[in-house]
Amino acid sequence: MPLENNPFEVSPRPGVDVARATDLVREVYGVEGAVSELGSHQDRNFRIDTADGARVLKVANRGWGRAAVEAQNSALLHIAGLDAGFDAPIPLAGLDGGVVHDVTDVDGAVLPLRLLTYVDGLPLSDTRHLSPLVIADLGRLAGRASAALAGFEHPGLTRVVQWDLMRADEVLVGLLGSIGDPDRRALVADRAAAAAEQLAPIADRLRVQAIHGDVTDDNVVGDRDDAGRIRPRGIIDFGDLTRSWLVGDLAVTCASILRHSPADPFAVVHAIRAFHDVVPLTDDDVAALWPLVVLRGAVLVASGEHQAALDPDNDSATGPLESEWRIFHTARSVPFAIAEAVIRAALGCETAAHHAAAHDAVRSARRLFPSVDDPAVVDLSVTSAALHSGRFLARSVEIEILRDAAAATGGGAVTRWAEARLTRTVLDSPDEPATNALGVELVLPHGTAAVSPWDATVADVDGTTVRLDSAAGRLTVHGLALTVAVGSTLRAGAPLGVVGSGHVRLGLCVDPSIDPPGFATATTAAGWTVLCPDPSPLLGVDVAAARDDAAALLSRRDDVLAGVQEHYYVEPMRIERGWRHHLVDTSGRSYVDMVNNVAAVGHGHPRLADAVDRQMRLLNTNSRFHYGAITEFSERLAALAPDGLDTVFLVNSGSEAVDLALRIAQAVTDRPDVVAVREAYHGWTMLSDAVTTSLYDNPHALTTRPDWVHLVSAPNSYRGTFRGADAAAGYAEEIRALVASLVADGRPPAAYIAEPVFGNAGGVLLPEGYLAAAYDAVRAAGGLCIADEVQVGYGRLGHYWWAHEMDGVVPDIITIAKAMGNGQPLGAVITTRAIADAFAAQGAFFSSAGGSPVSCVVGLTVLDVIEDEGLQANAARVGDRIIARCHELMARYPIVGAIHGMGLYLGIELVRDRETLEPATAECYAICERLRELGVVVQPTGERANVLKMKPPMCLTVESADFVVECLETVLRDGW
Ligand code: PMP
Repeated sequence: MPLENNPFEVSPRPGVDVARATDLVREVYGVEGAVSELGSHQDRNFRIDTADGARVLKVANRGWGRAAVEAQNSALLHIAGLDAGFDAPIPLAGLDGGVVHDVTDVDGAVLPLRLLTYVDGLPLSDTRHLSPLVIADLGRLAGRASAALAGFEHPGLTRVVQWDLMRADEVLVGLLGSIGDPDRRALVADRAAAAAEQLAPIADRLRVQAIHGDVTDDNVVGDRDDAGRIRPRGIIDFGDLTRSWLVGDLAVTCASILRHSPADPFAVVHAIRAFHDVVPLTDDDVAALWPLVVLRGAVLVASGEHQAALDPDNDSATGPLESEWRIFHTARSVPFAIAEAVIRAALGCETAAHHAAAHDAVRSARRLFPSVDDPAVVDLSVTSAALHSGRFLARSVEIEILRDAAAATGGGAVTRWAEARLTRTVLDSPDEPATNALGVELVLPHGTAAVSPWDATVADVDGTTVRLDSAAGRLTVHGLALTVAVGSTLRAGAPLGVVGSGHVRLGLCVDPSIDPPGFATATTAAGWTVLCPDPSPLLGVDVAAARDDAAALLSRRDDVLAGVQEHYYVEPMRIERGWRHHLVDTSGRSYVDMVNNVAAVGHGHPRLADAVDRQMRLLNTNSRFHYGAITEFSERLAALAPDGLDTVFLVNSGSEAVDLALRIAQAVTDRPDVVAVREAYHGWTMLSDAVTTSLYDNPHALTTRPDWVHLVSAPNSYRGTFRGADAAAGYAEEIRALVASLVADGRPPAAYIAEPVFGNAGGVLLPEGYLAAAYDAVRAAGGLCIADEVQVGYGRLGHYWWAHEMDGVVPDIITIAKAMGNGQPLGAVITTRAIADAFAAQGAFFSSAGGSPVSCVVGLTVLDVIEDEGLQANAARVGDRIIARCHELMARYPIVGAIHGMGLYLGIELVRDRETLEPATAECYAICERLRELGVVVQPTGERANVLKMKPPMCLTVESADFVVECLETVLRDGW
């Protein structure tokens, strides 16, 4: 078809202003309303606000032609008659009954005029970060638009639009000249030509139909979901409607996503999957997709530069240029073959047919090192036993482990293919690390002979590196003293040379034009490993890493564990490694662990591991025996407790400690009644659960308390019953009144239990003076005061060892657990000798494993580490820094309502409104999800799950703390 409407000679926009539009809409459509102009590249669009909703008046550019405008209207009416699954404008008839009219603009051009319903909603284009959900929404919308238009035909569809990717080459010929910079122009021309070359063999097989052609972030509108994300629902502009390649619709959508995620081009797979669910993609579509994305990028920049030159005063032409270049550069950064392989893997498609022969050839390879039998296969995975104590952080450990293994066998040793190596993890990084090995490394005896595994040609020789091309693609081997020359042809089994220094690396790639990296990210690994297949046949030993199916493991977990035994995250990563304040999942992605107050001294602590190992080999038994550790540990605990609290009970958990504390109080006072605070968590055993009223943990808690539990308000001066500076007086009065009424009823309390910093609310500090007043009131009635220090005590607050010290009080009973054992079951009750003795009225106390030799050694070692590594001081220093930096965020982002806590027990409370304190619960979950993508583990906490809880191992470094705050800032700034 000739380009009679020359698509790259874009006419200036129609000469119609707001006043004229106001007249037109009244005269032609009988509609009155406030008229304002909407931005457009080439047309004039006006919003008309009428009494019964908004309308859009559209005056088309003179290049359009009436038939094309009629085609659009007809398509919109077609869609309106379907259950298309998205909103779209509906054409409205004029006073004469027609839906397309003529208007003459100031230059005398006769242009098509239309009135459409206005699709309400928020635009997506201002959102910087698109979450995977939103990206999937976009792909789904594109798929639904394609599906809706599948049967649509209209003569006006033959209009040539410059965005039609079927015509991209012609369009670019006309527009490339507008790219002033010759290097950039050449680059665009080169990449477009490469894309066209990819498309050529399949173009004729691609499906052609009516397509929207512009389902992009600019052309969709949506509503905010609970978490505040805009979820696209409607498509607003059908100006690029044409007959073209169906897959072009998806390519255009993908390209628009790239501008939001230049660092992660494969964020688009969420859109591709969603599109595929609506309109299944064929093999050819998958092969065409990335070349079309690149072409779209090329047309965007060429057209953008052209339009900017033509209409330099039009902001909607000049504004987007930067992001158009970003799209182009991001698209071209991914080689076509890799894009195709990654997309195929993401869609679960089979290996591309054109790679199958190479894969067969790999399987029929001869052994590269015929004399090497059964080399040791070393483990560099996340679970490798050799990579303990932070050894994985030194890259050189890879070769050390290989050498050790080779020395042990006397033969050779080899790494695994497709293994996510722990040694390649990157700490404190927002980016997914490239951990998956695409090749293998070997240590072999010097002089080991290497032969060609196939009939092959020597493509390149460079020092100790040889590249062989064969039916299997390209094999690259580094580390040989070579005896072959470039260009020579080799028979299978022909000598290549011998092993030089002993360290050999090899990689296979079925496509010789690709120079694969050594390692791929988890997102791209499934695609890369198709291109770089398993070299086991060359080595005579299985070097493929076992596939890690975290999803299958999770479903087994769900099948076998009680449903109420929860896990973090809906789709949790599989964590198998911890080191200090870092966690590493099985893909080698590291996270700063901001939730593990249990691992107080950090994960994988070698001193702890050694101490346990030693004690386990010596003795582990129940605490009725007489051994050193139980005495030593209990003495240490008593020494840490306030004066007078000199007697220790050792148990296995916080719940047990609280349970025991309550029993002691009830036994000693011979009273059943206990005063507890609302919204608290104290444990799961009968007694500790009875005083637990957190609705987050149990929505029925308040209506199911036994009658001996009496509740007072949560002493939360930020959002509780009493707020602000003198909140303490209100809460104190409440507790005094409750105690008085209990006394009056003849049931004075046995005890009052509370966390001295409100951990369960996200580290809310109690109002000053409150705890002292509460203790006074309860003691005046003969009750005991229990400080539940399970979460907040033990040095975590930095400025205090015990949280109760903040209010200058001394409890009668302290409960501790968590940090004591660094994750090993360990808990304790510390009280006075008199109280402990009085409890003897209930008989003996015995907990088999509580206070066992191993537990006590763990407890002692944890205390030693806290002391020797200065972890309490570290908690103060790093915590103060996080608090200060989060206050800066609070000044800039209204969603941050409050910063609670102290040291390394912190809560960042998120609110929708700082006046009403409406909790930003869904946002909190979404932010945690996004933080996880960036490499930070944080969880929502508090009654309303709107507090980001931060209670990391106390060894958190300043670097990691800064990384966390920066990630949080990224999320608050760019969205989630
Ligand atoms: N008390 C408090 C304040 C707690 O936070 C917890 C646990 N979250 C417990 C007691 C119970 O401890 P455990 O889980 O070790 O039984």
